[in-house]
Amino acid sequence: MAKSIELRSQFPVLSQSVNGHPLAFLDSAATTQKPLCVIEAMSDFYKTHYSSVKRGAYALSAKTSQKFEEARSKIAKFIDAPSESNIVFTKGTTESINLVAWSYGLANLEPEDEILISVLEHHANIVPWQIAGKERGAKIKVIPCDDNGDLQIPELSALIHEKTKIVALTHTANSIGTITPLQEIIPIIRKLAPKAKILIDAAQGAPHSKISVKDLDCDFLVFSGHKIYGPTGVGILYGKSEVLENMPPWQGGGEMIEQVRFEGTTFAPPPARFEAGTPPVAEVLGLSAAIDWVNEIGIDNISACEEQITAYALAKLQKIEGLQIIGSPKNRGAIISFIIGKIHPHDVAMILDEEGVAVRAGHHCAQPVMERFGVPATLRASFAAYTADWEIDNLCRGLERAARIFLY
Ligand SMILES: *Cc1c(COP(=O)(O)O)cnc(C)c1O
Repeated sequence: MAKSIELRSQFPVLSQSVNGHPLAFLDSAATTQKPLCVIEAMSDFYKTHYSSVKRGAYALSAKTSQKFEEARSKIAKFIDAPSESNIVFTKGTTESINLVAWSYGLANLEPEDEILISVLEHHANIVPWQIAGKERGAKIKVIPCDDNGDLQIPELSALIHEKTKIVALTHTANSIGTITPLQEIIPIIRKLAPKAKILIDAAQGAPHSKISVKDLDCDFLVFSGHKIYGPTGVGILYGKSEVLENMPPWQGGGEMIEQVRFEGTTFAPPPARFEAGTPPVAEVLGLSAAIDWVNEIGIDNISACEEQITAYALAKLQKIEGLQIIGSPKNRGAIISFIIGKIHPHDVAMILDEEGVAVRAGHHCAQPVMERFGVPATLRASFAAYTADWEIDNLCRGLERAARIFLY
């Protein structure tokens, strides 16, 4: 895995020691570290051409506006969207889903309509639907998973019908790593509920494998900048043109209008209609640099590296006495959730921290998944392009020490 070690030197955070050990950062599903080129793109903006976008005729603003719109085209290309006008900048995955719930959801849901999600969803893909559904008298239906953590596809035919208006599914479960078989599910949804709009939560998908919204044939796809080597505070909403065009604005303000009169205001076409106010310019430029970085390495190379490190980690973790991996899905992303006996995951995470190993302990914003598997919380190790074998080795050494302390 020479490649990941070579990548690591581009990530300033990763070169430090924590508690006398080299930092093993195994929490990339929560957020990824940033390569120097992303940090420098943001700093260069603040240092050399800081200005707002769209408003100024002067040179600085023209340069910023051009880079800002280049970012939009780059992201459209990255997910195989037909045009930059399909790309709306938001604050993150959470805001993207809320945008669709408040705009499309409130405008289209009627009493007795149904919103279909899965048991594997992050809270961000549950709660907005509950709120919008309640507002309109629509019901939530849930696709269950089996003991491996795979969605139960045969249940779909009983769960989808003409009252299903929205289907919102994760690409990859952030809690236990299941990659959902969207290529199989989406055609079934199209057949059983031709009017339903399909949203894909790709927060854990876009950073790890090639996404083509064209091949998937989804109506919406969302992800966060900070999970794909970019900054916090920026996210993406992709929407099909005809769907976005028919959606009302969800926030009013500057830049989203065509003409404002006190008698009434007309709205700009998408994507501007959904981007009220000054956008997160530095963050968009940082995300743009992150996409360049990913393209340079190649998303397929990132997938291959992560597959290898995940297989290595699975094999090593399985050898630890008393360790139980939660979920063994057919297709797994770069995420492994586990527990050790009855030791509380937070206690284990503290021992690991003493060894410089950073993992997440908790419910991972996916309480229904924890409930499904009968655990209050798990430990989660998650990987990215820069993850190295020795980090997995240090994790396993720490876990064995935690087991010795708490189990015997
Ligand atoms: C992180 C995550 C979210 C929420 O993303 P934010 O960046 O916190 O808005 C939603 N869904 C999944 C699958 C995630 O991993």
